Amino acid sequence: MARIEYSLKATHAQTRAHNASLVLRALYDLGPISRADIARLTGLTRTSVGELVADLEAEGLAREVGRGPSTGGKAPTLGALESDARTAIVLDLGERTFSAALANLRGELTNRRTRDLDGRDGDDALALVHELIDEVSREATSPVLGIGVGTPGIVDAGGTIRWAVNLEWKDLPLADILHDRYGHPAIVANDARAAALATFLFEGEDRPTNLIAIKVGRGIGTGLVLDGDLFGGDGDGAGEIGHIVVEPDGAECHCGRFGCLETVASAPSILRAATAAGLSPTITLPELAAAAQAGNPAALAVSRAAGRALGSAIANLIGILDVRHIVVHGSVTVLGEPWLDAIRDEATRRSLGPLARETRIVDGGSGEDLTLVGACALLLTSELGLTVQR
Ligand SMILES: [Zn+2]
Repeated sequence: MARIEYSLKATHAQTRAHNASLVLRALYDLGPISRADIARLTGLTRTSVGELVADLEAEGLAREVGRGPSTGGKAPTLGALESDARTAIVLDLGERTFSAALANLRGELTNRRTRDLDGRDGDDALALVHELIDEVSREATSPVLGIGVGTPGIVDAGGTIRWAVNLEWKDLPLADILHDRYGHPAIVANDARAAALATFLFEGEDRPTNLIAIKVGRGIGTGLVLDGDLFGGDGDGAGEIGHIVVEPDGAECHCGRFGCLETVASAPSILRAATAAGLSPTITLPELAAAAQAGNPAALAVSRAAGRALGSAIANLIGILDVRHIVVHGSVTVLGEPWLDAIRDEATRRSLGPLARETRIVDGGSGEDLTLVGACALLLTSELGLTVQR
């Protein structure tokens, strides 16, 4: 009996939280908007909407922004989200640099700073995380929503970094460490996943239901947003396409196996291939892109080969998931059209016609801020319930 009562109470609280997030989402995506329109869109009664909006206004998250056109009676009050009502402390723990910034509720970044790792790892790298948070948190001008972190490596749903090779972090409960030290909610996720959520959440009301965002830089990481939510898989490793073997007799990968996608399509492997094809041993990605654009056959061949390998992996994702909105971002996108065309051609060639025809593979650019913005998106979904299940 007690158990039933408990679950009924939980359900009531959950319903209210769910309704509050529906209203917040309407304000977030569609504001300025009237309460009547929110009621119509969410299916809630006008009384409920009025109460929930009043709650949000009391918390400073929403405000009145004037009146809309009258439809006969009194002109309706319009409400909108107060974008600067909360501050998110966000971090991007890259492989060479750590960045921190403050973000508002629209994912707009300020007070940004970046530090070179200079070979720091383990406890020294963790000390740098604390140093950056100490610095930016002093500059927050509104209540702190929480701390969001994007990091390389495999991260479990509780924010423990199970393995980040370059940082020598193994089973590091970073979210708990940050929560204990600062007293704010803390969320830690894989950087490519954070970036996927950023690409998704800040698309506005036209956001797709499903999206795959692939980060192609020193490594290759993927974030899968399925039915409006990040998909982690059973072991938090969903989307690890970088270590799918694409060339069984290929080069050795840092994971210890041979011929992984990262050995043919990541930035370091592309530069190695460029050197092997007779281009300068010190060539950079922008230089390779310029050479390809100038018609250098070796540069074009290297760019296209990397694109084909990635396109082949993307064809597998399309075949399995039928996700039509795919974004590639990261430093390798500087290779531009020859690379992107090869991705699209190969993904199309290896997919069923009807699936491939509906799929859009979009260049998301270098995406330098995407992990920071994604760290903010993680907090918005967990702390404000701005998930987008339909
Ligand atoms: Zn590998």
